[in-house]
Amino acid sequence: MSKKNTLIPALLIITGALAAQPQPAPLSVQSLKGGVYWVKGGSGANTEFIIGKKQVIVIDAKTSPDSAKAMLAEIAKLTPNPVKYILLTHSDGDHVGGLSGFPRGLTIFAHTNTRKDMEAAFKDPKMSALLPYLPKQRVTADRSLNMAGVRVNLHYFGPAHTSGDLVVLLPAQKIAFVGDLAFIGRDPLIHRQKGGTSLGLVQVLSTILTLDADTFISGHSDPLTKTEIRGLLNSIRDKQAKVKALIEQGKSLEEIKTAFGLTAAPGPAGQRRPGFIEIIYQELTEKK
Ligand SMILES: [Zn+2]
Repeated sequence: MSKKNTLIPALLIITGALAAQPQPAPLSVQSLKGGVYWVKGGSGANTEFIIGKKQVIVIDAKTSPDSAKAMLAEIAKLTPNPVKYILLTHSDGDHVGGLSGFPRGLTIFAHTNTRKDMEAAFKDPKMSALLPYLPKQRVTADRSLNMAGVRVNLHYFGPAHTSGDLVVLLPAQKIAFVGDLAFIGRDPLIHRQKGGTSLGLVQVLSTILTLDADTFISGHSDPLTKTEIRGLLNSIRDKQAKVKALIEQGKSLEEIKTAFGLTAAPGPAGQRRPGFIEIIYQELTEKK
């Protein structure tokens, strides 16, 4: 794929997310355990922060600088400690667009592929304010770090939602942050243009289930249990098996979508994001 082709979808995702939420809900901050807080509302995905001994760790950055600043104001109500670290679960605009609302010079961690996606997207002159926030700490394999007196394990289990999804585990609190690897009540979202894969998602969720954690925080749902993650994994496996069986019966994509009760999406085909069943079909039929 040419450089141009990889750049455009990344831009669409970020600008699309910016346009999608003109009036965000107010932020709500909930204490989980062991100094860990879960932030809902504002623009963009859920975020989290951990109050450490002298500093604060933030996970994901909201969509807009205003929402990021609102989160910083909430943190300041709870602790005088400054934010020192930002951990990014992946490159989507609703997780990274608010970075420019943070002070400069923070230590930002992301997977190498996430950093690449961000670099490509931030070339857009409209996003130049985000360029100083490209993650300098690039993660390619599992790392266990002591940040602000907090043990933080960064895991990379392979491509799934994108090709750069980090899972953050706090072993002492038994909390895992899984970004957009676990959607509940809607189909998983797979960004094929960012190297995402539904078959990879099965592998990654299986590995997440082996973590010693009892609370799983995702970008777009309430906190989850292992049972809910297992249910999600099983439902994805079932869908993949059904699509595979229908392909083996010689069914077309349209027939398979009909078998899942899906109707043709409105709008020009070129602008439509393929649904989960179509993604599975593409993966199972593409030439290796
Ligand atoms: Zn995402």
